[in-house]
Amino acid sequence: MHSSQFTVEPPSNDRVERDVPGLRSPASGADRAPLTYDVIIAGCGPTGAMLAAELRLHDVRVLVLEKETEPKSFVRIVGLHIRSLELMAMRGLLDRILEHGRQRPAGGFFAAINKPAPKGLDSAYAYLLGIPQPVIERLLEEHAIGLGAQVRRGCAVAGFEQDDEGVTVELADGEQLRSRYLIGCDGGRSTVRKLLGVGFPGEPSRTETLMGEMEVGVPQEEIAAKVAEIGATRQPFWLRPFGKGIYSVVVPAAGVGDRAEPPTLDEFKQQLRTIAGTDFGVHSPRWLSRFGDATRLAERYRVGRVLLAGDAAHIHPPTGGQGLNLGVQDAFNLGWKLAAQIRGWAPDTLLDTYQAERHPVAEDVLDNTRAQMELLSTEPGPRAVRRLLTELMDFDEVNRRLIEKITAIGIRYDFGAGPDLLGRRLRDIDVKQGHLYGLLHRGRGLLLDRTERLTVGGWSDRVDHLADPTAALEVPCVLLRPDGHVAWIGDDQQDLDDHLSRWFGKPAD
Ligand SMILES: Cc1cc2nc3c(=O)[nH]c(=O)nc-3n(C[C@H](O)[C@H](O)[C@H](O)COP(=O)(O)OP(=O)(O)OC[C@H]3O[C@@H](n4cnc5c(N)ncnc54)[C@H](O)[C@@H]3O)c2cc1C
Repeated sequence: MHSSQFTVEPPSNDRVERDVPGLRSPASGADRAPLTYDVIIAGCGPTGAMLAAELRLHDVRVLVLEKETEPKSFVRIVGLHIRSLELMAMRGLLDRILEHGRQRPAGGFFAAINKPAPKGLDSAYAYLLGIPQPVIERLLEEHAIGLGAQVRRGCAVAGFEQDDEGVTVELADGEQLRSRYLIGCDGGRSTVRKLLGVGFPGEPSRTETLMGEMEVGVPQEEIAAKVAEIGATRQPFWLRPFGKGIYSVVVPAAGVGDRAEPPTLDEFKQQLRTIAGTDFGVHSPRWLSRFGDATRLAERYRVGRVLLAGDAAHIHPPTGGQGLNLGVQDAFNLGWKLAAQIRGWAPDTLLDTYQAERHPVAEDVLDNTRAQMELLSTEPGPRAVRRLLTELMDFDEVNRRLIEKITAIGIRYDFGAGPDLLGRRLRDIDVKQGHLYGLLHRGRGLLLDRTERLTVGGWSDRVDHLADPTAALEVPCVLLRPDGHVAWIGDDQQDLDDHLSRWFGKPAD
């Protein structure tokens, strides 16, 4: 058993109703092991690392269990879209991340339709950052550890049992650990989701793609000519030089196989010959992998004290480059709510707003990837629809709507009736102390007050107050949640207090 550092009683609002599925009472409170951690996270991918960091901002005791002994070596170049770049800016991470990536125009991602982004996208970070996924994972893990999260590698979560006070988590080697909550950030084949018995309905993979890094035996010009020829057919196919004679190779697989098994070099050669008429003399692979185009969404994100986030909750084809972004944004939504629950100030329904807000967002992403996959088809019908949509994207509003979807800046959570800004995220604006996102690094709420006569009163331990008549806002005041979404707009103190209670619980005495 892992050594226990802390033993505390959960605050009174931390008890979970007994009638939730999967909830058991294996032992009386007196017999149970101490709640060593507040939160155990299964999986140290981008979602798990981001969540750990968000929880640490609120001093939550976090342990991340990662089944792999070493960080991943295979290099998917992913795109960080605008909303994720904004999250990084909100936590003071953006400069470090920008050093490792390449900025590219924000447009041209919806079904790879080559249209530039419309002018005046509503963000101070209106670009895409191309960055290798292992680099993002390393930076997020370092960030989480820097804030005090513990990460244990080589530890696979193999089982768990929850009761009314916590979760007993069992590792593959039989060790047992106890925490108040368990979060499955353990990817598309999530053990946590399966053990929880949560359904994962959707469509299975129809196609599969092989991806790897290897050396080639023919000159670059020969490769470039073939890649251009086959690229025009919109099949997933490329050989891109990666430096030191190594190429990143992507080619359609022959069929849908067992994704648990990595492909062989022979499989690559065979498929390259089938698609390109030559295997380019590929040899000496660094790593080989495969991915499919399955689309699935977890039926629930929470069962009692166990929650799901990232690929554990949703999978879809990589079209438009949204999966990692979606997972990191799940973590950003969940982190402060779970921390509030653990710190004891969360309003009763706050934690459940995680599913209420994020499930529809994932549904929308799944739908847009389904649509993009159709638009990438080489069949005559979808090609005609693609031509039509390409024409329609000349209308600024159509182009803008699609980009706001892919980059996640168009999200509006349902906070009830109110002005259009309510429920949306606020862009980074200039304020008298510099820029708005610079004031959100600690993951607290913020009242941005142009009237200079409001107060956050008894909530000042959770919510900062910036009185700034010069702030570039078109409304008198906004209350921002720690994730930067607008929770209230107005100028009336009583109305503000009601909304502070709604989102931040009871005021301190
Ligand atoms: C070819 C390709 C290109 C892509 N391009 C993009 C892109 O441009 N933009 C984008 O946003 N997304 C992209 N994606 C999707 C992105 O890679 C995933 O959505 C992202 O990795 C999900 O992060 P995650 O942390 O939720 O899950 P994962 O990255 O899958 O991390 C899960 C972690 O949990 C660990 N784990 C698993 N089981 C256990 C267990 N039982 N106990 C403990 N640990 C466990 C795993 O080892 C892993 O480290 C792409 C995907 C592919 C295949």
